[in-house]
Amino acid sequence: MVRPSNHNAQMVGDYKLERTLGKGSFAKVKQAVHTKTGERVAIKIISTKDANQHALRRIKTEISVLRMIGHPNVIQLKEVFASESRIFLVMELVSGGELLDRLALDRVFPVDVARKYMIQLLSAIDHCHKKGICHRDIKPENILLDEHGNAKVSDFGLSALYEQGFRATVLATACGSPHYVAPEVVSRGKYDGRAADIWSMGVLLFVMLTGTVPFSAQNIKALFTKIKGGSFVIPDHVPADARSLIERLIVVNPADRATMEEVAAHPFLQGKLGVLQPTA
Ligand code: ADP
Ligand code: MG
Repeated sequence: MVRPSNHNAQMVGDYKLERTLGKGSFAKVKQAVHTKTGERVAIKIISTKDANQHALRRIKTEISVLRMIGHPNVIQLKEVFASESRIFLVMELVSGGELLDRLALDRVFPVDVARKYMIQLLSAIDHCHKKGICHRDIKPENILLDEHGNAKVSDFGLSALYEQGFRATVLATACGSPHYVAPEVVSRGKYDGRAADIWSMGVLLFVMLTGTVPFSAQNIKALFTKIKGGSFVIPDHVPADARSLIERLIVVNPADRATMEEVAAHPFLQGKLGVLQPTA
């Protein structure tokens, strides 16, 4: 659908652009207001002139995946339109910023806050997995907070349908923080993206409770070696139930790693993720 933008540079379609909310590797995200309804939204803008094939593939993936998903903890896509030189993704606006910024301010979260985010995000990811979608880029800059402190998964640019099986490539991690990537993703061969998402959630829980990443190194090669080795130390202050969940999520062999069903039954989540039905 092509809807020519207004001559006024501050207008796109029926929306008036306001401040810039964020910049990712491929896109600019602006706050905007619908001139007739007054509704505020976030618009992700990609210049098709400047974008390379990889960026265009990312945005196409993001559009088709977001159209399949409807979950309170996933950023909602409202509409998509394009001008001659740009693609616009109109999304629900969340005003609490990135989880990354919240972490930078607070350093560690109280256990109950970390638990709440885990329940919300795992619920969102389980929903995606049941639709056949893996996120593959779970990290604090891709998790946004709304004004009530609820977490929403965003940035599905690297997501994919897992049925096809993934060929592991380091490329997929080259554009973001590599600290959250699962060992099988940086190795050769095919992998199940669902298990890779579970690993990333383990790293996220570790970070929320300790303020540090479980694996760090001077360079990316050394970091990937550590991730594949899989040994990490959980500080003493982390409570036993959280520790035991981290130890089931950050497991090098994906076949031994907890499945979503096992995660849901884990005492740390207090049954709040509900009873999940096994997926095929
Ligand atoms: P990229 O694919 O380029 O990484 P993202 O989708 O991650 O782009 O968006 C970049 C940044 O823009 C986010 O990290 C966030 O700060 C901001 N942002 C994205 N979507 C929204 C939204 N719906 N509401 C508020 N801010 C957003
Ligand atoms: Mg991003």
